Amino acid sequence: MAKLEFHQFPCLDDNYGVLIHDPDAGVTASIDAPDADAVREALAEQGWKLTHILTTHHHHDHTGGNLELKTETGCTIIGPKAEEARIPGIDRAVREGDSFPLGGAKVHVIETPGHTAGHISYWIPAHAVAFVGDTLFSLGCGRVFEGTYEMMWASLSKLRRLPAATRIYCGHEYTLANGRFGLTIEPGNTALAARVAEVEQLRAAGKPSLPTRLDRELETNVFLRTSSPEIRKRLALETAEDWQVFAAVRERKNKG
Ligand code: ZN
Ligand code: FE
Repeated sequence: MAKLEFHQFPCLDDNYGVLIHDPDAGVTASIDAPDADAVREALAEQGWKLTHILTTHHHHDHTGGNLELKTETGCTIIGPKAEEARIPGIDRAVREGDSFPLGGAKVHVIETPGHTAGHISYWIPAHAVAFVGDTLFSLGCGRVFEGTYEMMWASLSKLRRLPAATRIYCGHEYTLANGRFGLTIEPGNTALAARVAEVEQLRAAGKPSLPTRLDRELETNVFLRTSSPEIRKRLALETAEDWQVFAAVRERKNKG
């Protein structure tokens, strides 16, 4: 199996950039390009040369560096077919079920619309890692800007079905605020309380709470926990569909 290295770095206000590097193939991909300067600095620090940008969705805090980095490096930009017209510099548009090689690794495309209408996630099963942009956050999920709650729930459900040990890289460091909100919805969740305490310490030490792991999110992320009796009771949605419980949680967070 090809060796892959991952380098995560904070940028802009609360975004994360991630570089994926295959040392044997000499290939380096940036997951999104929030800011050209920050990506360039991270590349220089690692001594890696950019060959690809994998775009999750069209928002400026995920694509703002595309053109500058492409001009400098000639990198190939891959992004969602459904947002092709809105991804600066896109070379290759991909959709659900597509896969493509990245050095010696194989990247799979999962359409995860809701935050934006064409948002995609990238999954590398051989390395048990997924890059989910602004669809899933640790202890939270993205705001539903362009899709419906049902659509966003369907997208989160796809991510829920990935192997439990999948490491999850997300677009933003929102974990602490998400976790504090989560405790108002499911205060009896001791795993969540422990995770919030852990994240408080990490953040106080200036450390990231990401990447997370899917099994951990299934235990602690109230946006994924639509079958929790405590959550359903609190929201008076004991017999509702899962997507309706999700929608109610998301609406509470929007107001909070
Ligand atoms: Zn976004
Ligand atoms: Fe974002």
